[in-house]
Amino acid sequence: MLALGSASLVQVPVTASHWGTFCLLAILAIVQAEATRRIEHQRRSLSITPHVNVTSVWLFPGAFFLPPHLAALLVIVIYGHLGYRSWSGIRHVTPHRTVANATTMIMSSFAAGYTEHLIGHNGTTTYSICAAGLAFFLMNTLVTGVGLYLATPEEATAKSCLGSWDDNILELSTLCFGGLLVATLPHQPMLMVLIFLPLYVLQRSTLVKQLEELATTDQKTQLLNAVTWQNAAIREVSRVEREGGSFGALMIDLDFFKRINDNYGHLAGDDVLKAVAALVKSETRQHDLAGRFGGEEFVALLASSTKDEAIAIAERIRKLVSELVINTRNNEGEPVVIENQTASIGVAEFPRDGSTLDEVMASADAAVYAAKRSGRNRVVGSPALDAVMAG
Ligand code: GH3
Ligand code: MG
Ligand code: MG
Repeated sequence: MLALGSASLVQVPVTASHWGTFCLLAILAIVQAEATRRIEHQRRSLSITPHVNVTSVWLFPGAFFLPPHLAALLVIVIYGHLGYRSWSGIRHVTPHRTVANATTMIMSSFAAGYTEHLIGHNGTTTYSICAAGLAFFLMNTLVTGVGLYLATPEEATAKSCLGSWDDNILELSTLCFGGLLVATLPHQPMLMVLIFLPLYVLQRSTLVKQLEELATTDQKTQLLNAVTWQNAAIREVSRVEREGGSFGALMIDLDFFKRINDNYGHLAGDDVLKAVAALVKSETRQHDLAGRFGGEEFVALLASSTKDEAIAIAERIRKLVSELVINTRNNEGEPVVIENQTASIGVAEFPRDGSTLDEVMASADAAVYAAKRSGRNRVVGSPALDAVMAG
């Protein structure tokens, strides 16, 4: 790719029209970034996942109409400006990350430009715009994904490397805007300013979504926070009252968790909480509600389940918690392996164990205490409070 850029220095003559396009795109990008600086700053501060920005709107037309080295210069100007004005001071947007992002964008621009060069001999067509847009998107996803994987291979997941569905839809939307600019630029370049308002709305709506997630999610475990869980569970109570049926409720309390903090420190304790939360999430279904009730207590609402079904799921969770192997570090930074963590789980059913959510949760809570009293690492069903399964 770099060779392509260097080769274009010699082979593609830069015309005044190229410089005109370059200046127009750079100025529009900078004006737009300045106008949305606060939003961009907030979005970046809130985001810890691969963060999509809207620069593709300007970079994609650049890839189409500029020789590769000017397209690369456009990336450098736009990212230099963003790095200096919008991202400085945000902890996880370090200068080297800005450089890595810019390099990814240069490669994506080259991929789009090269695709256009290969199939667009007869002028720009809908087909060549779509193919180049796809090349841009795939190169961006590939380079970002490989980079994020190599940064922390042991923690990498498909979502952490490839971004969420929302991240990808946002990137594709910005490329759609970029594609429309490609069609507009040769005929009515000044019409490009009409993109400002929709772009602003797009950025603002992604910020609103991030804020919504922040308000509803427990930041340590990524489960629903207590208030959101409670509200969603109350809706489920109303649904069952209207339509009939039942649901199961689990109250999960980790056993002797304080000892983990005392022996290894709070950060190691946090890693245990994260591992248990991930397990509760993965062992429940998409439409169940997994939440953090507080401290080292988790709750799960199992939709359309009877008590016996809920007890079976609770037993599976109990067993898997006891088999967890967590690699973490103690307060001195030394690697430690935490094993044999156990949990006591109380199970109740709506409407059998209470006519309101509070009553059902109080039953599940009483069952947790019965499990603790009878030796921990146990699942106890309410209201009989008899130990149904011993660990
Ligand atoms: P039991 O088996 O009776 O439930 O014992 P326990 O030690 O789990 O219960 P206790 O209520 O005595 O202690 C809970 C501990 O959980 C105390 C608190 O420091 C710890 N804790 C609560 N929230 C967090 C957190 O977010 N991170 C960490 N690392 N620890 C937490
Ligand atoms: Mg507790
Ligand atoms: Mg506990």
